[in-house]
Amino acid sequence: MDLAVWRANVNNQTVTTEPVPESWQRLAGRALIPRILLDEIPPMCDPLGPFNKLLFAPGLLVGHMLSSCDRISVGAKSPLTGGVKEANAGGTTGLKLVHLGIKALIIEGAPAGNGWLLLHLSQEGGRFELADDVTGLGIEESAARLRERYGDKVGIALIGPAGEMMMASAGIQNLDKDGSPARIAARGGLGAVMGSKRLKAIIIDMPDYKAPPLADEALYKDAKKRYMKSLTSHPQTKVYSDYGTSAVATMCNGFGAIPVNNFSVGQFDSIDKISGDNLRDTILERGGDGDTSHACMPGCVIRSSNCFADPEGKKITTPLEYETIGLVGSNLGIDSFDTIAKLNQEMNDLGVDTIEMGAALGVAADAGLMEFGDGERAMELLQEVRQGTPLGRILGQGATTVGKVYSIRRVPAVKGQAISAYDPRAIKGTGVTYATSPQGADHTAGLTIRAKVDHLDPMAQVEVSRTAQFNMAGYDTLGACVFSGFGYATAPGAIRDLIRGQYGWDIGEDALQALGRETLALERAFNKAAGFTAADDRLPEWMTTEPLPPTNAVFDVPAEELDRVFD
Ligand code: SF4
Repeated sequence: MDLAVWRANVNNQTVTTEPVPESWQRLAGRALIPRILLDEIPPMCDPLGPFNKLLFAPGLLVGHMLSSCDRISVGAKSPLTGGVKEANAGGTTGLKLVHLGIKALIIEGAPAGNGWLLLHLSQEGGRFELADDVTGLGIEESAARLRERYGDKVGIALIGPAGEMMMASAGIQNLDKDGSPARIAARGGLGAVMGSKRLKAIIIDMPDYKAPPLADEALYKDAKKRYMKSLTSHPQTKVYSDYGTSAVATMCNGFGAIPVNNFSVGQFDSIDKISGDNLRDTILERGGDGDTSHACMPGCVIRSSNCFADPEGKKITTPLEYETIGLVGSNLGIDSFDTIAKLNQEMNDLGVDTIEMGAALGVAADAGLMEFGDGERAMELLQEVRQGTPLGRILGQGATTVGKVYSIRRVPAVKGQAISAYDPRAIKGTGVTYATSPQGADHTAGLTIRAKVDHLDPMAQVEVSRTAQFNMAGYDTLGACVFSGFGYATAPGAIRDLIRGQYGWDIGEDALQALGRETLALERAFNKAAGFTAADDRLPEWMTTEPLPPTNAVFDVPAEELDRVFD
């Protein structure tokens, strides 16, 4: 089965297939996004205009249910940053696209009318349908109706009200393996791009398992065995299985780097209430729908995801991740998991990035629109977003817009995109990543919290960030979850042999770094063509002058250091 490019034009509502161009064949996932953008869109185009394209590209390893390696990369020119954007998600979208034979799905054109569309993809091809009965609905209700109509074996990628209103905080939700619409390609406003095409949902109607062929089955199987052995025996696999990403909360607090009250403090007085230990204990104590260890995609043995239930054991939200605990919890001065989970679920249903919206609410609190710690008011503000009031639309455009409208200088964002739940003044390597990543501020572009380095030393961060950025871009290109790295790190040559085994390509020992280097070069080329310069690779000025208690660190990595990251 040769993978193909599927092209869906929302203007004339046609879906065509074509062979993969030569120059795209060895690319996939995150690496394929900037290649297609460079080849097919004017870099200076309006992200919400007719020339931008919305791309879905499964990673290189997707299709075999190799543990934690079936992620989907979604991309476009970002309405939030104005540059290249790739946001990836777990769930079933990537797997089902590959099983349908799709290397890249390109959604292009401008809608001809005011109606909303669904794109249905199956072994018979693709077709557009009307989305009247799900337009305006939240993610949960939309997904439930679509599953009722198309069956519970389909994959779905969809937007909520925020995407329909083309808000720059909107992401694209994907079904997890149990049909819950909770795996969001969150960052950079890709939901707004989908909204600009008036496309409510993509239905991937592929019930069959049809993995791509292997060039060398024995080599692939051997590499898989080594990877799985390494992964299952790595101590961090158990930590993430038991605690998920919330395990990081206490560690980050210990470094004085957890965001508190709009990034004004780096340690949270109530850290014990929002710790990984407390999250696990609460979920186990309540029982019912709660689950401390859930797999977002078939075959994942790490199972870092979770489900948080109320005291009666009824599900409030899934998943409750550290980034949300940081941005929607401590960053808003909120220390109750129940409140954070309800806000998380509301954001999931609106279809927004919890990092961007949590940061926007933090800036809103500095502007006097809510008190820190007031979860009820935060929920009221989210209702403004849902109703599309002028205030809701300002919040929905993200932290940078809120800062501009209310004249707040303390806006935690780079290239217009909100900073994740690691304050870069206390973990400076991650600050280097935020500053220099072509994606804008994003911990998944190169988190350095586990690096053996003095996180406060401004001169020790460039190599650490560079290595992390190449690794992460490599994993994103493979379609591999970052936590698969526990397995790959201790199974030398496994990535090389998986690629050789699947594709027969001659690829070197440093496959991961090589893939990452190539991906970042393409992304930087797109951003350069879109008008970015070194001046964009900086943290906000206030972070270089405002000390962060309790370390009282400022971000003091010199500009020359930042400029040599990709030299
Ligand atoms: S480790 Fe977590 S995020 Fe990664 S694939 Fe498994 S469940 Fe999904």
